[in-house]
Amino acid sequence: MSTAWRIGVDSRRCIGTSICAGTAPEHFRLVDGLSAPLADVVAPAEVIIDAADSCPVEAITVRDAADDRLIAPEE
Ligand code: SF4
Repeated sequence: MSTAWRIGVDSRRCIGTSICAGTAPEHFRLVDGLSAPLADVVAPAEVIIDAADSCPVEAITVRDAADDRLIAPEE
C-alpha cells in the first residue's frame, strides 16, 4: 500500500481546461493558464486519481513516490 504519491503535470500537454483544479482544488491550481500541483508529493487520495482520469489530454500522472509505479491514469 502506498504511503505517498508523486503528482506530475506535463505542461507541454496541458491545455488549461481547469478540470483538475475543479475536481481537486486542494491539489491543483492554474498558473499562467496551465495546471500545477500545489504539492508534488502528497498523501494518497482518491480525488487525485479522479483528477488524473478526468484530464482530457492525460497531462496528469500519479506515481507511487517510493517505487515510481504508475497509479493513474490507467494505461
Ligand atoms: S485537466 Fe488536464 S488539461 Fe485541464 S488544466 Fe488540468 S492538467 Fe491541464
